[in-house]
Amino acid sequence: TTFAELGLAPDILRALDEMGYLTPTPIQEQVIPLALQGADILGAAQTGTGKTAAFALPLIQRLLPFANTGTSPAKHPIRALILTPTRELAIQVEESVQAYIKHVPLRSLVVYGGVSINTQIPILKAGVEILVATPGRLLDHVQNKTLMLNQVNTLVLDEADRMLDMGFMPDLKRIVALLPAQRVNMMFSATFPEEIRKLADSILNQPTFIEV
Ligand code: AMP
Repeated sequence: TTFAELGLAPDILRALDEMGYLTPTPIQEQVIPLALQGADILGAAQTGTGKTAAFALPLIQRLLPFANTGTSPAKHPIRALILTPTRELAIQVEESVQAYIKHVPLRSLVVYGGVSINTQIPILKAGVEILVATPGRLLDHVQNKTLMLNQVNTLVLDEADRMLDMGFMPDLKRIVALLPAQRVNMMFSATFPEEIRKLADSILNQPTFIEV
């Protein structure tokens, strides 16, 4: 199978080509076609399987109709929210997103705690379609009214089990409550204890379970 056969658009394929991605990994083969159709997904996958591209590529493609070069912030609302447990993972995920959107007029930003919130505000004000965030810092921005989540149409929870281990469950619930009900959800976890299943039940809408 090739990435083109999975249904990805030429501008995305070009970026993958430049990154040296030759063939999709097993999780990418399974997730990409389904996610392009807007299905909710529950994925069992470890780091190193290519799960970032599995959720990011279809998410990006579904945002292409909204891609534009307009300068008004109103033209760049946050449409996809990717939550990760740690700043290291957030940075890594956003770097990948940045590379995947190289040839399309979409913008991304990463926000995480432990650094001054002020440097993140001007970029948020200018507008970004794809936001990668750790839960606590995201809520700081919500409280400060430095970002709006009312146009989010895609939610990704990456390494959900680690988010629970780190005590982010209450934050996750608060964040999800701020999102439009009509949206696509993808959740990835390496393990599936009872709490993760409950979280999946409360967030995902008839998900397809994908295991690699
Ligand atoms: P991840 O599991 O998402 O953290 O990805 C692990 C590493 O594999 C990252 O460095 C990706 O850039 C790389 N990668 C992901 N998918 C592919 C692919 N289809 N071909 C080559 N490298 C890939």
